[in-house]
Amino acid sequence: MNMLTAVYDTKPYDQAHLLAAAPRDILQWQFWDFRLSAETARTASGARAVCVFVNDAVDRPCLRTLGELGVKLLALRCTGHNNVDLHAAQEAGITVTRVPAYSPYAVAEHAVALLLTLNRKIHRAFTRVRDQNFSLNGLVGTDLHGKTAGIFGTGKIGRITAQILRGFGMRILAFDAYPASEWARQTGVEYVDARTLARESDVISLHIPLTPETRHIIRGETLALMKPGVILINVSRGGLIDTTALIAALKADKLGGVALDVYEEEEGIFFEDLSGQVLQDDTLARLLTFPKVLATAHQAFLTQEALNDIARTTVANLEALAEGRPFVDGSVLTEGAPLFTSSALAEGP
Ligand code: NAD
Repeated sequence: MNMLTAVYDTKPYDQAHLLAAAPRDILQWQFWDFRLSAETARTASGARAVCVFVNDAVDRPCLRTLGELGVKLLALRCTGHNNVDLHAAQEAGITVTRVPAYSPYAVAEHAVALLLTLNRKIHRAFTRVRDQNFSLNGLVGTDLHGKTAGIFGTGKIGRITAQILRGFGMRILAFDAYPASEWARQTGVEYVDARTLARESDVISLHIPLTPETRHIIRGETLALMKPGVILINVSRGGLIDTTALIAALKADKLGGVALDVYEEEEGIFFEDLSGQVLQDDTLARLLTFPKVLATAHQAFLTQEALNDIARTTVANLEALAEGRPFVDGSVLTEGAPLFTSSALAEGP
């Protein structure tokens, strides 16, 4: 009998890529458009595996229900796993897998796209020209060439972002708990401490995972260290930035711009079409009023290549469960697993 997988928070592109990656007839699918949580977990009845994304709330009560229903595998179709209680999963007898790596170019290129758009005010120019307003007033940007970029986290995505910005002729400073010294030497990147990075950078891009240690790593105190006019980019996880402190810095007109693909309270908002509705999140509503803020709704991963990679790894793990084979190398998460991958640690001190 085919193995049933309940897929949560399914968008049309998820369904299309998962089905395309599973031409063999050994999996059966139940696609739900709502998110998995303690409240919705009973909908996994009959499934041996569930498949979730970044904003499903896979906490202890949810995992207890999944365990009672006989679910054996929780397959994350993302890299970060800050939304899963790994200890509770282990207690419930559920293996957790993730996609350890997928096109890091997708995310790095989106970070740079946001930077270029914000700096050269392309988003404002686009609407102006469509309105036949061909004036240039208020559209002055700065050259990136010769400026300093600070890359916070030099794992897979941070390194590619650094390399792209290096190509623009920027000086690159980097901070990482486990510096990749050989890569830095070859790329012309300088590792510095976090405070120096904050103080000296004209552009700061965040590429570290969200952990209890990194939550609100950008807060009032960090923002106070930064140069006036700094451009801050976050395509990693919303919780890295204290949004209240960010709004205070924006109100004080201290920042040159903020590009966000993630927001700490994005669950239930990002990925949804809420057009025509009243936005209930006052903090996000305020953030979106600043002309210097450019936001996208967690779309940095959204390229054909990344979706193919994600679907291939996810399907390989589901088929491995169905056929009793080992899971994809490096994809099984155990309690205490770091929220970052060991490849980034290879050159650690
Ligand atoms: P990675 O594991 O390859 O790299 C993470 C780096 O952060 C590592 O080098 C690690 O040493 C460093 N790090 C971890 N904790 C640190 C700390 N406390 N201080 C300093 N450095 C620390 O991860 P990656 O593939 O480059 O992804 C980075 C993050 O990007 C992910 O954790 C995820 O949150 C985010 N992401 C976002 C999207 C999106 O669509 N917006 C898509 C994929 C990944």
